Amino acid sequence: MSEECEFCEIVDRDDPDVREIYRDESVVAFFPTEPAALGHVLIVPRRHVPDIWSLEPDEAADLSRAALLLADAIREAVTPEGLSVIQSNGDTATQTVPHLHIHLVPRWKDDAIGPIWPVGTDFSEVSKEAAMLDVRDAAERLRSFTELPIAPEDRRKHLDYIQAVVTRQSAASSSAKGWLLPIVTATFGFAITQHTWPLAALGMVAVVLFAYLDANYLRSEKRFRRLYDTVARSTRRVPLFTLDPVDADEILANDAPAMSKWKKAVHTYLPKWSIWASWSIAPFYIALLLLGVGVLIASAS
Ligand SMILES: [Zn+2]
Ligand SMILES: [Zn+2]
Repeated sequence: MSEECEFCEIVDRDDPDVREIYRDESVVAFFPTEPAALGHVLIVPRRHVPDIWSLEPDEAADLSRAALLLADAIREAVTPEGLSVIQSNGDTATQTVPHLHIHLVPRWKDDAIGPIWPVGTDFSEVSKEAAMLDVRDAAERLRSFTELPIAPEDRRKHLDYIQAVVTRQSAASSSAKGWLLPIVTATFGFAITQHTWPLAALGMVAVVLFAYLDANYLRSEKRFRRLYDTVARSTRRVPLFTLDPVDADEILANDAPAMSKWKKAVHTYLPKWSIWASWSIAPFYIALLLLGVGVLIASAS
């Protein structure tokens, strides 16, 4: 304990006036002498930890668990309309006792606490961007120190899951082609024998629709393959067992121009040119379209 720390006194049961409400191996919680609201609770680690920068991950976990339990207790006991969790570090942030603590404050409309956020700020976009980048880089750097390497068997399992999705996508693509062929045969066949060109046109529309569908399967398959490579080569840290190919994407460069709504929609719904041009799309569907043109001319004459 630290000399003359009022919270250490509470932890050591040296404060006869304390209204203690909870205690376990690493955490003590009590009512402050002057509560901001009825039901206001303070949670402290038993070790004298001055602030968040000195807190150990295990202690943080214990504090969080206690905070969840006490938040439930407060809701049951005083049925507030809301609850604020306040944890301040340093004089500037209004930390008054230099022993880390979390305030759980039950809230009611028009209570004595009032708004805790500024009404508005006017930081420039440049300064917001710069701050974001600095913090993000620092977070990535620190993360690489603290994270454990991924266990090989977990990585293998993850790769299996992704592989299963890739296989499903390519199976869907083959079955799309399998569905299209009888449709094309029927429409083109009838168009020629019955001399009805609209049927040929209908068949061509089907070809275009299926090409679009197939291109989307292929695009999705490619994205999952990229996720696979990312996990296999650990070029980039992704959440374990993620099946969201977005996790393999680079974080968007901040100087990239913002996409317009229209461009975003095109990007979302229309596969890129390289997808359309790939061997499993272009030859198959272009051949069918050319065939369609021939049938169209033959059936119209
Ligand atoms: Zn203390
Ligand atoms: Zn405080």
